[in-house]
Amino acid sequence: MSERRIYIDSSGAISILDEVVIDGHRSVSSRARVVTHIHSDHIVNLMPSIGSSYRLIGTHVTLSWLPVLGYPVMASSIYLSYGTRIKVGSVRLELVKSHHIPGTAQVLAELEDGYRVLYSSDFKKPGESTPLVEADTLIIDAVYGRPSYVRRFDDVIEDLLVDLVRQLLSESSVHIYGYYGKLNEVMELLRSRGVDAPFILPSKVYMMTKKAENLGHRVEDYILLGTREASEVMRNGWYVYLDHTTRAHSRASRSASSISSIILSGWEFEKPIKKLANRTWHVAFSDHSDFRGLIQYVASVKPRKVYVVRARSNGAEEFAAYVSENLGIKEVVVA
Ligand SMILES: [Zn+2]
Repeated sequence: MSERRIYIDSSGAISILDEVVIDGHRSVSSRARVVTHIHSDHIVNLMPSIGSSYRLIGTHVTLSWLPVLGYPVMASSIYLSYGTRIKVGSVRLELVKSHHIPGTAQVLAELEDGYRVLYSSDFKKPGESTPLVEADTLIIDAVYGRPSYVRRFDDVIEDLLVDLVRQLLSESSVHIYGYYGKLNEVMELLRSRGVDAPFILPSKVYMMTKKAENLGHRVEDYILLGTREASEVMRNGWYVYLDHTTRAHSRASRSASSISSIILSGWEFEKPIKKLANRTWHVAFSDHSDFRGLIQYVASVKPRKVYVVRARSNGAEEFAAYVSENLGIKEVVVA
């Protein structure tokens, strides 16, 4: 396969045959931009792509969330369901489900000669809730690319989080802070485990939840912050408030004893739950596979060549060296 077919720039934009660009922008005349999900490192330079009238391609959830975050989605955009194939120029494209935040997709691109290129995007639980496909070339973000980035408690973290929320709810209201999308995953998790306290949501989280619910991500009993109904529920004191992680410290520091705060972060490897001061807990609830999951994913894809995307990796070189030494893949490139 010609080297010119794949180009990855320093911002993490992945260009295939100069026809499709994934999770970044290129000024060459690509026809379309695939958005794998709405996290900020995957919508880099999205406005220039929109301004260049690329067709946006993404799942229904992803494309319906972009306007909530301030990105207009043009009428020419393609709402693509998992498993449906389309042709963009000479590239056949398919979005493959990924367990990360709602709407997230792996991207499988098949070239005219049948050569398969797979971009992992973000995922967790490979082979369980993230399906695995084989490809000739794999492009991967090694988010936890160092062998020390291992969370031994990943299998039980959902149970621990649900138990903690239940316990805290019996004492106070609970505030949960995490990234957009992860909050939706947590809401779905809590409901699936029978936590039925009302959710109070600030406007962006509320709108994202409403759009996701219209697409089948049922949550129920969520209320917009600032409404009279929300004020009444909050006076009552039995509720879960969910907001973006950047609001955690300002709110947590103001927290009264009637509020417990949970901050979600994957960057904890020693303990699943850490109690901080001020009725605040850190929970190592991650939307990413740890190092072991990344290696398992690469091994299952069985690629002949691997690109590790430096812009979205931590420990890209270490990860590349480990893959070539331990999985016997000769061509591993950090790009
Ligand atoms: Zn992500």
